[in-house]
Amino acid sequence: MKAAALTGSRAMEIVELPDAEPAAGEVRLRVGYCGICGSDMHEYESAQPFRAMGLLQPVMGHEFSGWVVAVGDGVRDVRVGQLVVGNPGPGCGTCTYCRAGRENLCREGSLGGTGYTKPGAYAEYVTITERAAVVLPEDADAREAALTEPFAVARHALIQGGYRPGELLVIAGAGPIGLLTVIAARSMCGERIVVSEPLAGRRAAAVEVGASHVVEPGELVQTVYGLSEGVGAEISVDASGLPVGIASCVDATARGGRVVLAGVGDQPFPLDITRSIINELTYVAVLGYSRQEFIDAAMLIAERKVDVSAVISEVVSVEGTPDAFARLSGGRSELRKVLVTGDPQMGTDGHRILNRR
Ligand SMILES: [Zn+2]
Ligand SMILES: [Zn+2]
Repeated sequence: MKAAALTGSRAMEIVELPDAEPAAGEVRLRVGYCGICGSDMHEYESAQPFRAMGLLQPVMGHEFSGWVVAVGDGVRDVRVGQLVVGNPGPGCGTCTYCRAGRENLCREGSLGGTGYTKPGAYAEYVTITERAAVVLPEDADAREAALTEPFAVARHALIQGGYRPGELLVIAGAGPIGLLTVIAARSMCGERIVVSEPLAGRRAAAVEVGASHVVEPGELVQTVYGLSEGVGAEISVDASGLPVGIASCVDATARGGRVVLAGVGDQPFPLDITRSIINELTYVAVLGYSRQEFIDAAMLIAERKVDVSAVISEVVSVEGTPDAFARLSGGRSELRKVLVTGDPQMGTDGHRILNRR
Protein backbone atom coordinates (compact mmCIF):
# COMPACT_ATOMS: atom_id res chain seq x y z
CA MET A 1 0.00 0.00 0.00
CA LYS A 2 1.01 3.60 -0.51
CA ALA A 3 1.73 5.97 2.35
CA ALA A 4 3.13 9.49 2.69
CA ALA A 5 6.19 9.39 4.94
CA LEU A 6 8.05 12.24 6.62
CA THR A 7 11.69 11.84 5.62
CA GLY A 8 13.23 15.02 7.00
CA SER A 9 12.64 18.71 7.51
CA ARG A 10 10.07 19.84 4.91
CA ALA A 11 10.58 16.53 3.13
CA MET A 12 7.88 13.99 2.52
CA GLU A 13 7.89 11.01 0.15
CA ILE A 14 5.45 8.40 -1.07
CA VAL A 15 6.55 4.97 0.12
CA GLU A 16 5.27 1.45 -0.50
CA LEU A 17 4.52 -0.48 2.71
CA PRO A 18 3.51 -4.13 3.21
CA ASP A 19 -0.20 -4.92 3.61
CA ALA A 20 -0.13 -6.62 7.02
CA GLU A 21 -3.08 -8.51 8.52
CA PRO A 22 -4.39 -7.09 11.80
CA ALA A 23 -3.03 -8.77 14.95
CA ALA A 24 -5.28 -9.96 17.78
CA GLY A 25 -7.48 -7.16 19.05
CA GLU A 26 -6.77 -4.95 16.03
CA VAL A 27 -8.84 -3.80 13.09
CA ARG A 28 -7.57 -2.76 9.67
CA LEU A 29 -9.20 0.13 7.85
CA ARG A 30 -9.14 1.40 4.33
CA VAL A 31 -8.61 5.05 5.10
CA GLY A 32 -11.65 7.12 4.21
CA TYR A 33 -10.32 10.57 5.02
CA CYS A 34 -7.52 11.86 7.22
CA GLY A 35 -7.18 15.53 8.18
CA ILE A 36 -3.85 17.33 8.00
CA CYS A 37 -3.28 18.68 11.51
CA GLY A 38 -1.37 21.76 12.62
CA SER A 39 0.78 19.60 14.89
CA ASP A 40 1.82 17.53 11.85
CA MET A 41 2.68 20.75 10.01
CA HIS A 42 4.79 21.70 12.99
CA GLU A 43 6.61 18.41 12.78
CA TYR A 44 7.10 18.84 9.03
CA GLU A 45 8.46 22.36 9.37
CA SER A 46 11.62 21.27 11.13
CA ALA A 47 10.86 21.70 14.81
CA GLN A 48 10.01 17.99 14.98
CA PRO A 49 9.33 18.06 18.73
CA PHE A 50 7.59 14.68 18.81
CA ARG A 51 10.24 13.00 16.69
CA ALA A 52 12.94 14.40 18.96
CA MET A 53 11.11 12.81 21.89
CA GLY A 54 11.18 9.46 20.05
CA LEU A 55 7.41 9.57 19.71
CA LEU A 56 7.08 9.77 15.99
CA GLN A 57 7.51 7.23 13.23
CA PRO A 58 7.51 8.44 9.60
CA VAL A 59 3.83 8.02 8.64
CA MET A 60 1.75 10.66 10.44
CA GLY A 61 -2.02 11.21 10.32
CA HIS A 62 -4.23 10.94 13.40
CA GLU A 63 -7.56 12.52 12.34
CA PHE A 64 -9.18 9.75 10.33
CA SER A 65 -12.23 7.78 9.33
CA GLY A 66 -12.20 4.51 7.42
CA TRP A 67 -13.98 1.32 6.46
CA VAL A 68 -13.12 -1.91 8.25
CA VAL A 69 -11.52 -4.39 5.82
CA ALA A 70 -10.23 -7.01 8.30
CA VAL A 71 -10.46 -7.77 12.02
CA GLY A 72 -7.97 -9.70 14.17
CA ASP A 73 -8.69 -12.50 16.63
CA GLY A 74 -10.75 -11.55 19.64
CA VAL A 75 -12.36 -8.47 18.06
CA ARG A 76 -16.01 -8.59 19.10
CA ASP A 77 -17.76 -5.31 18.47
CA VAL A 78 -16.32 -4.16 15.15
CA ARG A 79 -17.22 -5.85 11.86
CA VAL A 80 -15.90 -5.79 8.29
CA GLY A 81 -17.68 -3.16 6.22
CA GLN A 82 -18.44 -0.77 9.07
CA LEU A 83 -17.46 2.89 8.90
CA VAL A 84 -15.42 3.86 11.95
CA VAL A 85 -13.55 6.88 13.20
CA GLY A 86 -10.22 6.23 14.91
CA ASN A 87 -9.30 7.67 18.29
CA PRO A 88 -5.51 8.15 18.16
CA GLY A 89 -5.29 8.36 21.95
CA PRO A 90 -7.81 5.97 23.53
CA GLY A 91 -5.56 5.33 26.53
CA CYS A 92 -4.52 2.01 28.04
CA GLY A 93 -7.79 1.72 29.95
CA THR A 94 -6.16 0.53 33.18
CA CYS A 95 -3.89 3.27 34.61
CA THR A 96 -4.97 5.79 37.25
CA TYR A 97 -5.84 8.45 34.66
CA CYS A 98 -7.75 6.13 32.33
CA ARG A 99 -9.77 4.74 35.23
CA ALA A 100 -10.70 8.33 36.07
CA GLY A 101 -11.85 8.96 32.47
CA ARG A 102 -8.87 11.16 31.66
CA GLU A 103 -7.37 9.05 28.88
CA ASN A 104 -5.66 12.14 27.42
CA LEU A 105 -3.28 11.96 30.40
CA CYS A 106 -2.72 8.17 30.16
CA ARG A 107 0.55 7.03 31.70
CA GLU A 108 1.24 4.90 28.62
CA GLY A 109 1.64 8.12 26.65
CA SER A 110 -0.56 11.16 26.46
CA LEU A 111 0.38 11.91 22.86
CA GLY A 112 -1.52 8.94 21.58
CA GLY A 113 -0.62 6.13 19.29
CA THR A 114 -1.81 6.21 15.69
CA GLY A 115 0.03 8.84 13.68
CA TYR A 116 2.61 9.28 16.42
CA THR A 117 4.18 6.11 17.81
CA LYS A 118 2.22 3.86 15.42
CA PRO A 119 1.86 4.31 11.63
CA GLY A 120 -0.83 6.90 10.87
CA ALA A 121 -3.45 7.42 8.22
CA TYR A 122 -1.69 9.44 5.51
CA ALA A 123 -1.94 6.08 3.76
CA GLU A 124 -4.33 3.80 1.93
CA TYR A 125 -4.76 1.58 5.00
CA VAL A 126 -4.23 1.94 8.73
CA THR A 127 -4.40 -0.58 11.59
CA ILE A 128 -5.80 0.40 15.00
CA THR A 129 -6.92 -1.37 18.15
CA GLU A 130 -10.58 -2.24 18.63
CA ARG A 131 -10.54 0.09 21.65
CA ALA A 132 -9.57 2.98 19.33
CA ALA A 133 -12.40 2.33 16.85
CA VAL A 134 -15.69 4.18 17.22
CA VAL A 135 -18.33 2.59 14.98
CA LEU A 136 -20.50 5.18 13.24
CA PRO A 137 -24.13 4.96 12.12
CA GLU A 138 -24.52 3.62 8.56
CA ASP A 139 -25.55 6.93 7.05
CA ALA A 140 -22.66 8.92 8.56
CA ASP A 141 -20.49 11.01 6.23
CA ALA A 142 -16.93 9.61 6.13
CA ARG A 143 -15.48 12.97 5.14
CA GLU A 144 -17.03 14.94 7.98
CA ALA A 145 -16.24 12.09 10.39
CA ALA A 146 -12.53 12.82 9.83
CA LEU A 147 -13.09 16.07 11.75
CA THR A 148 -14.06 14.17 14.89
CA GLU A 149 -10.57 14.39 16.41
CA PRO A 150 -10.01 18.16 16.10
CA PHE A 151 -13.68 18.76 17.01
CA ALA A 152 -13.13 16.72 20.18
CA VAL A 153 -10.06 18.89 20.93
CA ALA A 154 -12.11 22.07 20.49
CA ARG A 155 -14.99 20.81 22.65
CA HIS A 156 -12.62 19.61 25.35
CA ALA A 157 -11.06 23.10 25.47
CA LEU A 158 -14.47 24.63 26.21
CA ILE A 159 -15.43 21.92 28.70
CA GLN A 160 -12.13 22.25 30.60
CA GLY A 161 -12.51 26.03 30.51
CA GLY A 162 -15.92 25.68 32.16
CA TYR A 163 -17.69 27.42 29.29
CA ARG A 164 -21.37 28.14 29.88
CA PRO A 165 -23.90 29.44 27.34
CA GLY A 166 -24.56 33.12 27.90
CA GLU A 167 -20.90 33.87 28.52
CA LEU A 168 -18.98 36.15 26.23
CA LEU A 169 -16.39 33.94 24.53
CA VAL A 170 -13.27 35.13 22.71
CA ILE A 171 -11.39 32.85 20.32
CA ALA A 172 -7.97 33.93 19.03
CA GLY A 173 -7.21 32.32 15.68
CA ALA A 174 -9.60 30.98 13.03
CA GLY A 175 -7.63 28.01 11.78
CA PRO A 176 -9.40 24.63 11.97
CA ILE A 177 -9.28 24.47 15.80
CA GLY A 178 -10.60 28.03 16.15
CA LEU A 179 -13.43 27.32 13.68
CA LEU A 180 -14.31 24.05 15.38
CA THR A 181 -14.33 25.86 18.74
CA VAL A 182 -16.95 28.23 17.31
CA ILE A 183 -19.02 25.22 16.15
CA ALA A 184 -18.60 23.51 19.54
CA ALA A 185 -19.67 26.67 21.38
CA ARG A 186 -22.73 27.02 19.15
CA SER A 187 -23.65 23.38 19.84
CA MET A 188 -23.47 24.23 23.56
CA CYS A 189 -26.02 27.03 22.89
CA GLY A 190 -23.38 29.77 22.86
CA GLU A 191 -24.34 32.97 21.07
CA ARG A 192 -21.82 35.69 21.88
CA ILE A 193 -18.65 34.43 20.20
CA VAL A 194 -15.95 36.90 19.16
CA VAL A 195 -13.21 35.61 16.85
CA SER A 196 -9.96 37.46 16.23
CA GLU A 197 -7.97 36.52 13.11
CA PRO A 198 -5.50 38.41 10.90
CA LEU A 199 -6.26 36.55 7.63
CA ALA A 200 -9.34 37.73 5.69
CA GLY A 201 -10.20 34.29 4.29
CA ARG A 202 -10.21 32.78 7.74
CA ARG A 203 -12.32 35.63 9.09
CA ALA A 204 -14.88 34.80 6.39
CA ALA A 205 -14.81 31.16 7.51
CA ALA A 206 -15.45 32.21 11.13
CA VAL A 207 -18.55 34.11 10.01
CA GLU A 208 -19.73 31.06 8.04
CA VAL A 209 -19.50 28.71 11.03
CA GLY A 210 -21.47 31.04 13.27
CA ALA A 211 -19.25 33.50 15.15
CA SER A 212 -21.30 36.54 16.23
CA HIS A 213 -18.39 38.98 15.81
CA VAL A 214 -15.26 38.53 13.73
CA VAL A 215 -12.48 41.08 13.96
CA GLU A 216 -8.86 41.76 13.09
CA PRO A 217 -6.58 41.33 16.12
CA GLY A 218 -6.12 45.10 16.53
CA GLU A 219 -9.88 45.57 17.01
CA LEU A 220 -10.40 42.75 19.51
CA VAL A 221 -10.17 44.52 22.86
CA GLN A 222 -12.31 47.47 21.75
CA THR A 223 -14.96 45.11 20.36
CA VAL A 224 -15.04 42.93 23.47
CA TYR A 225 -15.21 45.91 25.81
CA GLY A 226 -18.00 47.36 23.70
CA LEU A 227 -19.97 44.13 24.11
CA SER A 228 -19.41 43.87 27.88
CA GLU A 229 -19.78 47.37 29.32
CA GLY A 230 -16.02 47.62 29.48
CA VAL A 231 -15.59 44.46 31.52
CA GLY A 232 -14.14 41.93 29.06
CA ALA A 233 -14.92 38.33 28.16
CA GLU A 234 -15.60 35.68 30.80
CA ILE A 235 -13.59 33.15 28.85
CA SER A 236 -11.08 33.25 26.02
CA VAL A 237 -9.53 30.43 24.04
CA ASP A 238 -6.20 30.80 22.30
CA ALA A 239 -6.36 28.61 19.20
CA SER A 240 -3.27 30.16 17.59
CA GLY A 241 -0.40 28.86 19.71
CA LEU A 242 1.30 32.22 19.17
CA PRO A 243 2.39 34.59 21.97
CA VAL A 244 0.48 37.42 20.24
CA GLY A 245 -2.71 35.32 20.28
CA ILE A 246 -2.33 34.43 23.96
CA ALA A 247 -1.60 38.08 24.79
CA SER A 248 -4.78 39.18 23.00
CA CYS A 249 -6.76 36.62 25.04
CA VAL A 250 -5.28 37.98 28.28
CA ASP A 251 -6.10 41.56 27.18
CA ALA A 252 -9.69 40.70 26.28
CA THR A 253 -10.49 38.61 29.38
CA ALA A 254 -12.47 40.09 32.26
CA ARG A 255 -11.27 40.11 35.86
CA GLY A 256 -11.93 36.68 37.31
CA GLY A 257 -12.04 35.16 33.82
CA ARG A 258 -10.43 32.10 32.29
CA VAL A 259 -7.80 31.97 29.54
CA VAL A 260 -7.75 28.58 27.82
CA LEU A 261 -4.53 27.57 26.06
CA ALA A 262 -5.52 25.25 23.22
CA GLY A 263 -3.04 26.20 20.48
CA VAL A 264 0.27 24.36 20.38
CA GLY A 265 3.27 26.61 19.75
CA ASP A 266 6.99 26.48 20.25
CA GLN A 267 7.62 30.04 21.42
CA PRO A 268 7.71 30.90 25.15
CA PHE A 269 5.05 33.25 26.50
CA PRO A 270 6.01 35.86 29.13
CA LEU A 271 3.39 35.62 31.87
CA ASP A 272 2.67 38.92 33.64
CA ILE A 273 2.25 37.53 37.15
CA THR A 274 1.23 40.78 38.87
CA ARG A 275 -1.42 41.52 36.29
CA SER A 276 -2.66 37.91 36.39
CA ILE A 277 -2.99 38.12 40.18
CA ILE A 278 -4.63 41.53 40.22
CA ASN A 279 -7.18 40.32 37.66
CA GLU A 280 -7.42 36.87 39.27
CA LEU A 281 -7.09 35.15 35.92
CA THR A 282 -7.26 31.39 35.60
CA TYR A 283 -5.07 29.81 32.93
CA VAL A 284 -6.28 26.45 31.67
CA ALA A 285 -3.94 24.41 29.45
CA VAL A 286 -5.73 21.68 27.56
CA LEU A 287 -4.63 18.49 25.83
CA GLY A 288 -6.71 16.27 23.58
CA TYR A 289 -9.94 14.82 24.99
CA SER A 290 -11.23 11.99 27.10
CA ARG A 291 -12.38 8.77 25.44
CA GLN A 292 -16.01 9.66 26.17
CA GLU A 293 -15.56 13.18 24.77
CA PHE A 294 -14.17 11.62 21.58
CA ILE A 295 -17.25 9.38 21.27
CA ASP A 296 -19.53 12.35 21.96
CA ALA A 297 -17.76 14.40 19.26
CA ALA A 298 -18.04 11.51 16.78
CA MET A 299 -21.78 11.16 17.38
CA LEU A 300 -22.51 14.91 17.22
CA ILE A 301 -20.95 14.96 13.74
CA ALA A 302 -22.25 11.57 12.55
CA GLU A 303 -25.82 12.37 13.62
CA ARG A 304 -25.55 15.83 12.01
CA LYS A 305 -26.19 17.69 15.24
CA VAL A 306 -23.30 19.91 14.18
CA ASP A 307 -22.23 20.82 10.66
CA VAL A 308 -18.46 20.83 10.21
CA SER A 309 -18.49 20.76 6.40
CA ALA A 310 -17.49 24.44 6.09
CA VAL A 311 -14.19 23.67 7.85
CA ILE A 312 -13.03 21.35 5.07
CA SER A 313 -11.41 23.08 2.11
CA GLU A 314 -9.87 20.36 0.02
CA VAL A 315 -9.40 16.61 -0.45
CA VAL A 316 -6.13 15.23 -1.82
CA SER A 317 -4.97 11.70 -2.66
CA VAL A 318 -2.20 9.98 -0.69
CA GLU A 319 0.13 10.90 -3.58
CA GLY A 320 -0.99 14.53 -3.26
CA THR A 321 -0.03 14.71 0.44
CA PRO A 322 3.55 16.06 0.04
CA ASP A 323 2.24 18.84 -2.20
CA ALA A 324 -0.53 19.69 0.28
CA PHE A 325 2.02 19.95 3.12
CA ALA A 326 4.17 22.25 0.98
CA ARG A 327 1.17 24.52 0.27
CA LEU A 328 0.04 24.58 3.92
CA SER A 329 3.54 25.33 5.16
CA GLY A 330 4.33 28.65 6.81
CA GLY A 331 1.04 29.08 8.65
CA ARG A 332 -0.07 31.88 6.34
CA SER A 333 -2.25 29.66 4.21
CA GLU A 334 -5.91 30.55 3.73
CA LEU A 335 -6.67 26.84 3.35
CA ARG A 336 -8.99 25.35 5.92
CA LYS A 337 -8.79 21.66 6.81
CA VAL A 338 -7.21 19.58 4.03
CA LEU A 339 -8.15 15.90 4.00
CA VAL A 340 -6.08 13.05 2.57
CA THR A 341 -8.15 10.21 1.17
CA GLY A 342 -7.22 6.53 0.82
CA ASP A 343 -9.85 6.29 -1.90
CA PRO A 344 -8.16 4.97 -5.10
CA GLN A 345 -10.77 6.78 -7.24
CA MET A 346 -8.82 9.97 -6.61
CA GLY A 347 -6.00 8.80 -8.89
CA THR A 348 -2.50 10.19 -8.65
CA ASP A 349 -1.94 13.67 -7.28
CA GLY A 350 -5.53 14.69 -7.94
CA HIS A 351 -7.19 17.08 -5.58
CA ARG A 352 -10.72 18.28 -5.21
CA ILE A 353 -11.39 21.79 -4.04
CA LEU A 354 -14.24 22.44 -1.63
CA ASN A 355 -15.44 25.65 -0.05
CA ARG A 356 -13.32 27.93 -2.19
CA ARG A 357 -14.93 31.31 -2.09
ZN1 LIG B 1 -4.71 16.85 15.24
ZN1 LIG C 1 -3.95 4.75 30.76
